[in-house]
Amino acid sequence: MHDDGGGHVTGIRSAEQLERFRELLLAERREAEERLAEQSEGITAVREARSDGSVDDEHDPDGPTMSQEWSQRTAVLHDVEHELVDVKRALARIDDGTYGVCEKCGQKISVARLEARPTATLCIDCARKVR
Ligand SMILES: [Zn+2]
Repeated sequence: MHDDGGGHVTGIRSAEQLERFRELLLAERREAEERLAEQSEGITAVREARSDGSVDDEHDPDGPTMSQEWSQRTAVLHDVEHELVDVKRALARIDDGTYGVCEKCGQKISVARLEARPTATLCIDCARKVR
């Protein structure tokens, strides 16, 4: 069963490896969900501060205004939402047995690449062509 020779890509071969990636993705999902909750809370706080007339938006001209903070937070929120979608898709691929397979060419994605980016859906070659 040892065929590590040559320079070909080493994809996921064992159920243990797959489980390891599932754990990794579950941890990432937990973390993303926490950040999402945190950002949502922050946005609610900003929204409340804005609707509360006692906060003067122009008070500190050098500091970030409420609207700046608002857009920063919503931008982060969108990033985390995207990340969460990617992580959930990756987990679904683990369940249906297509995890670690390039969506474009059907080749195995290298374990090294998946370790760096567990949500990767393309092999390194296809990813290079896309960008
Ligand atoms: Zn590919």
